[in-house]
Amino acid sequence: MPDLDDSVRQVALHVLRHGPVPRGAVARALGLSAGSLTRLGKPLLDAGLLVETGQVTDPATRRPTRPLDVVPGPHRFVGVAVTGTEACAVRTDLRAVERRRASRPLAGTTPEQVADTVAGLVGDLHPGGPPTAVGVALAGVVDRAGRVLQADALGWRPGTDLGALVRGRTGAEVVVDDDVAALTATEHWFGLGREQPAFALLTLDTRVGYGLVVGDAPVRTTGPQLVGHLPLEPGGPRCPQGHRGCAGALVTVPALLAAAHVAYGRPVSWRDLLVDAVDRVDRARRVVDDAAAHLGRLVALVAGTTGVVQVVVDGEGADLAVVGYESLQAAVDEHRDPRSPAVEFTVRDPDPHTWARGAAGAAAIGFASGPRWLAGA
Ligand SMILES: [Zn+2]
Repeated sequence: MPDLDDSVRQVALHVLRHGPVPRGAVARALGLSAGSLTRLGKPLLDAGLLVETGQVTDPATRRPTRPLDVVPGPHRFVGVAVTGTEACAVRTDLRAVERRRASRPLAGTTPEQVADTVAGLVGDLHPGGPPTAVGVALAGVVDRAGRVLQADALGWRPGTDLGALVRGRTGAEVVVDDDVAALTATEHWFGLGREQPAFALLTLDTRVGYGLVVGDAPVRTTGPQLVGHLPLEPGGPRCPQGHRGCAGALVTVPALLAAAHVAYGRPVSWRDLLVDAVDRVDRARRVVDDAAAHLGRLVALVAGTTGVVQVVVDGEGADLAVVGYESLQAAVDEHRDPRSPAVEFTVRDPDPHTWARGAAGAAAIGFASGPRWLAGA
């Protein structure tokens, strides 16, 4: 017999992630009888953590039902994404829906200076006291305890406890994670993961980021993830780490801009390259289609090794998957077993605050998974 508290928690988390959701769907997803769900839901309804929404017809049973939903409540989260030069922040509710945003240049790159900037942004977005929790995301490697083992752009000594520095300045609970892991977790709870129990996330900007969710759970690795350096083209250019023809040398924004510089004989902006490609200017089309084909090969490798057929593309360079869609899809098909199901793409609108929203989502997930959210139930 499972622990009652844990069962109550499962109901609350399911409704947080999937709500508003008919009771029958909650019961089916969690393997509960209608009576058990009524018993487990009662303390959550009584405590005002869940509500019954207006009557609708359950699409599964065609009977009237009043779906369950969470009461977002007063909980506020600030997510901050730190690069080598600036920090971007958003304030969100419990479901990582953005309410406000801000950014600040870094005053310097020491851990203390970065913590000062992060704390300043928390104060900008949530004046008058600490938010429910703060999430901080950076490119690099972060251990389970939130210590920064490697910060790509900051050059810190391994084991820097950024969370403690931010906690000391804000008084808030702080979650620190690597930016791709935080975005994957947020996509899992509040994005595509609401409908899909398995998907891969690929982010394109100055590097290729990779996250994987299988069986409704993120797959965590302990070191740097290497999908961004998978070899795709033996004679291709070198990435900044020296690999010839790896994903990082072929499908990042700098890689496309370098190829465009050669094709045009002069520097070209990302936006102009995409506009020209949409207008079917030959040299732009070639650069975009080549890169999209390489991305398709990467997706085929990921899909072939994981069995995942849902792929989210996000990041500053995500439009490559839209403007180069035909080449992308053709390469995916070419490099996969023809009997395997088609890969479906979800492309997010490029937004410089994406990583900050990922950080806020990680903070919300940490809060909802911990003891505080359900303390009153
Ligand atoms: Zn590489």
